[in-house]
Amino acid sequence: MAEHPQDIVTRFAPSPTGRLHLGHALSAVLSHDFARAHRGRFVLRIEDIDTARCRTEFTDAILDDLRWLGIDWDRLDIQTDRAADHAAALDRLQAMGLLYPCTCTRAEIAASASAPHGGAGPIYPGTCRGRTDAPEGAAWRLDMAKASAIVGVSGRHDDVVLARKGLGVAYHLAVVVDDAAAGVTDVIRGADLLSATPVQNLLQVLLGLPVPRYTHHPLVAGSDGKRLAKRTPGATLADLRAAGADPALLRNDLRSGRLPVGFGWADA
Ligand code: GLU
Repeated sequence: MAEHPQDIVTRFAPSPTGRLHLGHALSAVLSHDFARAHRGRFVLRIEDIDTARCRTEFTDAILDDLRWLGIDWDRLDIQTDRAADHAAALDRLQAMGLLYPCTCTRAEIAASASAPHGGAGPIYPGTCRGRTDAPEGAAWRLDMAKASAIVGVSGRHDDVVLARKGLGVAYHLAVVVDDAAAGVTDVIRGADLLSATPVQNLLQVLLGLPVPRYTHHPLVAGSDGKRLAKRTPGATLADLRAAGADPALLRNDLRSGRLPVGFGWADA
C-alpha cells in the first residue's frame, strides 16, 4: 500500500503594522494556493508581538482584505496568544547556555561594528558575550558561534536578539515556535526574508523542531522600481479595491506571476 504523503500546511504571517500591499497579496495567494492544490491546510497567523508597532485595526483590515481577495484559512493564530510556548522555547535555549544578555544601544553597536550587513544594520560585534547579569529590558542574544558548533554548521551569522527581558520574545524565535505548533511544512514568503531562513533553521534544529521547506518569491516593486513598502502610494489592497480591481482576476494574475499595470519585479 502506498504511503500517505505528509499533509501540506502553509501559512501567511503578516504583521498588523499597516495595510497589506500587493507583495503581501502575492505571498498570501501563493501560500494559500499551494495548500489548496495539495488538499492541505492554510494557516493565517497575525504576528502582533511587536506591540509598540501593531494595531488591532490593522488586524481587522488584514482579515477584510484577505476575504476580499478570496483567501480563506483553516486556522487563525494570534501570535500574542502564544506567549507561553514562546517563553518555554526561550527557557530551553537559556538552559542550553546559548543566550547572553546585552544592553548595547543601537548607536554603540553602529560605532563598534565594522562591516555593514546586507542593509539589515551592522553585525553585532559581541561586546556583551560572556556577560551574566541581565537588567530589565536587556536583550537576550543567541551566541551564534556556540549554537552553530552544537548543530555542526559553519558560517558567519549575527548574534540575533531572541527576546528582551520582561518584554517577551522577538521575531525569529516566535516564528519558528509558531510554525512548528501549526505543523507548517512549506513556508512561501518574500525574498526580503531570505537572510532570516538560516537563522530560523538553526533555531529549529536547536529546539528539535521540524524544518519546513522554504520558497522565497521575488519582491514586487512600484512604478519607481523600488520594492513596495507599507507606505508606497496606490499599492495597498485597499487602494486596488477602491480603484475597482477585480479580486478574482488579481488572484489569477498573481498565481500566474503577472502583476497589475504600474507594478513590476524588484531587483534581487
Ligand atoms: N511577520 C513577518 C512580516 O510581516 C513575516 C514573517 C514570515 O513570513 O516569516 O514581514
